[in-house]
Amino acid sequence: MKRYVIVGNGHAAVGCIEGIRSADKTGEITVVSKEPYPVYSRPLISYYLEGKTDLERMKYRSGSFYEDNGCCVRYGVSAAAIEPNEKTVTMDNGEPLVYDALCVAAGSSPFVPPFEGLETVEKKFSFMTLDDALALEKELTAKARVLIVGAGLIGLKCAEGIRDRVGHVTVCDLADRVLSSILDADCAAVVQKHLEENGVAFLLSDTAVRFDRNRAVMKSGKTVAFDLLVLAVGVRANTALVKNAGGAVNRGIIVNEQMATDLPAVWAAGDCAEGFDAALGANRVLAILPNAYLQGYTAGVNMAGGSAVFDNAIPMNSIGFFGLHMMTAGCYDGDMTEERSDGAVKRFFVKNGVLNGFILLGATDRAGIYTALIRDKTPLDTIDFDLTKKAASNLIFSRETRRKRFGGVV
Ligand SMILES: Cc1cc2nc3c(=O)[nH]c(=O)nc-3n(C[C@H](O)[C@H](O)[C@H](O)COP(=O)(O)OP(=O)(O)OC[C@H]3O[C@@H](n4cnc5c(N)ncnc54)[C@H](O)[C@@H]3O)c2cc1C
Repeated sequence: MKRYVIVGNGHAAVGCIEGIRSADKTGEITVVSKEPYPVYSRPLISYYLEGKTDLERMKYRSGSFYEDNGCCVRYGVSAAAIEPNEKTVTMDNGEPLVYDALCVAAGSSPFVPPFEGLETVEKKFSFMTLDDALALEKELTAKARVLIVGAGLIGLKCAEGIRDRVGHVTVCDLADRVLSSILDADCAAVVQKHLEENGVAFLLSDTAVRFDRNRAVMKSGKTVAFDLLVLAVGVRANTALVKNAGGAVNRGIIVNEQMATDLPAVWAAGDCAEGFDAALGANRVLAILPNAYLQGYTAGVNMAGGSAVFDNAIPMNSIGFFGLHMMTAGCYDGDMTEERSDGAVKRFFVKNGVLNGFILLGATDRAGIYTALIRDKTPLDTIDFDLTKKAASNLIFSRETRRKRFGGVV
């Protein structure tokens, strides 16, 4: 019987388990889970603080998921080292686990720059895990002043989650705009205004450089007093296990389209992996949930002797803050054309006659059609793109494409 080991117990691990079971119903699967919980939906931690969900509804799979899939989960332990020649993973308690196929699905960790005086701050938090959210929740009070360092997705989601439970929320970032990795300046201004109208204050083009207990000294020289500090500066892929075993890593663990690393019998998936980005035409870490699941599934199928490739990933974000929904995808290289109506903004970036990327604010209906255009590199002169920009419809695809893509239902 084949022995599978999965390091990590997040979305990529679930994909991997389901991928393995699609091809091998009997092999032995062991999951090594640093976190002490069954898999939960990580993006929901802010909704938990906001009171929009609870611990039960945050579960990403049913209570019997591991049992149904014949998995043994080792909770609260970490994989410390891989010995690729012996095909073993050594846990942090010294115990070895032997594998025939291994998937590293270890996600990413918060990056904390070496701020001067950070050790003097008593109440500081990251915002990546359920334990982070539970620890922050214990300190939330109606008068608390919260400083969040980082105006990216994680910092802003945290701001939304706690806004109504504290006195003040200020978000600072060295970048000159919110969500700088996914929004251009104009769209970022729309989102920032919306967040401000909902009670979140910003200090942009400025960031904390030094801390002295409950006071942050900013790059500009300003000082900001706070009671709680949240550090959401960025994340780094957890690559050490593969790197220390001699495998190739860059910003993430380098994988091919089958999600295999260059170590024998070792695959990697999710936020820790650097796979092919079809929009960019090169490898990069695409740290988003759907990608983690699909990479994990692909790895699992191949680990079990099947054949699967994942070669059409593109950067994609579907998020919302205080009721403003947005979706972004691809890259913003190319000529921009815009559609505006009823306060909604759609921006499309076209290069060499194909759609390269888009930003949709407040009008995200049928956005899957736009992502299909990017993925398929559909020549825009073969469809009515002017109409499509206004309202996307499946009818822009040929009957044959619709049959393949949508199973003949349209
Ligand atoms: C607040 C927040 C909001 C988000 N919102 C969105 C969103 O709206 N849309 C979206 O697409 N994505 C979102 N994301 C990103 C999304 O959650 C990740 O892309 C996804 O969780 C990645 O899944 P993963 O399985 O690769 O990693 P993870 O879910 O991080 O799981 C990896 C697991 O591996 C464990 N681990 C690490 N090292 C070891 C080890 N050595 N041994 C054992 N276990 C180990 C970790 O503790 C962790 O539990 C959000 C993330 C956060 C934090």
